[in-house]
Amino acid sequence: MSVKPLSKLSYLTAALRPRFFGFFQGHAALKQDELDAIHHLVEKDADSVLERKFEDNFARLTGGEAVSFAACRMAFYAVLQALGIGKGDEVLLTGFTCSVMPNAVWRTGATPRYADISADTLGTDPAAVARKITNKTRAIVLQHTFGLPCDVEAIAKIAQTTGIPLIEDCALTVGSSMNGQPVGSWGEAAIFSTDHSKPLNTITGGLLVTQNRSLVNRVREIQTAALSLPVEQRRRLWKRLLLERRNLSPGNYGRGRLAIKAVGGLRKVRQRFNKREEFTLLEGDFKPRIKPDSYPYPARMPVFLAQVGLSQLAQWQETAAHRRSVLARLFEIASPELKKHFPAAYRDAKYDVVPLRLAYSHPRAHEIEQRMRKYVDTDYIWFREPIVCATAGPASFGYVTGDCPVAEHIGQNIINWPCDVPEKDVPALLKLFSECHRNL
Ligand SMILES: *Cc1c(COP(=O)(O)O)cnc(C)c1O
Repeated sequence: MSVKPLSKLSYLTAALRPRFFGFFQGHAALKQDELDAIHHLVEKDADSVLERKFEDNFARLTGGEAVSFAACRMAFYAVLQALGIGKGDEVLLTGFTCSVMPNAVWRTGATPRYADISADTLGTDPAAVARKITNKTRAIVLQHTFGLPCDVEAIAKIAQTTGIPLIEDCALTVGSSMNGQPVGSWGEAAIFSTDHSKPLNTITGGLLVTQNRSLVNRVREIQTAALSLPVEQRRRLWKRLLLERRNLSPGNYGRGRLAIKAVGGLRKVRQRFNKREEFTLLEGDFKPRIKPDSYPYPARMPVFLAQVGLSQLAQWQETAAHRRSVLARLFEIASPELKKHFPAAYRDAKYDVVPLRLAYSHPRAHEIEQRMRKYVDTDYIWFREPIVCATAGPASFGYVTGDCPVAEHIGQNIINWPCDVPEKDVPALLKLFSECHRNL
């Protein structure tokens, strides 16, 4: 049984609700003077001074050195290239990922393979990694999902024993740690996304972080040779930032989704005349094996978005503390029965969690979701399938059914709740959370 996406009518009714929650938060906290400074930079092509400032501030969170690109997938692609990975090689991804990851692997000429997740962490399972390594595996990519660290210590040991470079996919997890060591500091390199659905939001963007100087130098060369996103695209991204800032907060979210749908409709008409518009948010990589050539790849981080990133970083400590506090309050009101379904890592002292979402698999997920959807944009519940953000099924991304049985099973009954809603809306979120689980 699958839950149908929201109908057009439900978008309309959601628009009328005073509280409607989603998984994207607009930049409501950006002040007008900050916004003006950002606006001034839209027309500016790559500027290594601003890029470095963003990278250096980001690296303060993680240690090591950071190099930015227009998306996490591009940082990933650059690391693979810098490691000399290409034709005939295999890259071991996690079968609980975004379509842009196998596409990045294919762009290097290598082949993606998939290791399963663990039900305890919703991230990469060390035993599955050990099983899936072949004599062609040239990189292990582990994934920390929803803010929960995976058992990175065990996977780092496997990488060490086999001598295969380990890349940590931290697109969904910033600031969490295992046994006191932060995610992103365990492998050869780590990649982060600053897309609008991720822990830090610059609409689109990504970085890699590494302690390895010679790797930084090689990736830096790739960055220097990369093109900027075209100015028309940067202007569209600027408009998107404004649209999200105005609309994507719980008081306006329903209206925001409607506005985004409407803009999407208008875009479809315009795209008939201008194909490039289709890819404002770099959606070309959601199609299997397609190289749309509609934007440069890899591309540099637009400097106005790096400026947004600086503002996000300046608030990061408060943001992280707030998300922890929302998670703690969700835990407080969850019944013991419900908590049994939460991944064990949430309660394991080894892991310190800065959550992005509260995620769990529940046998009655469909009932929970039917209740949720009146008040939550459940279209963006993630990882119902092993490859998400995709225009085609997992098989089109080299995923073979049965590759990752745990991911497939969990995906059928997965629920996500946002942990990043503004404080004033938290009471409404908590109330809703209780109502959605009552008598289950
Ligand atoms: C979003 C995401 C990515 C890719 O990030 P982009 O910035 O969109 O390229 C990679 N891995 C995971 C787990 C993600 O969720």
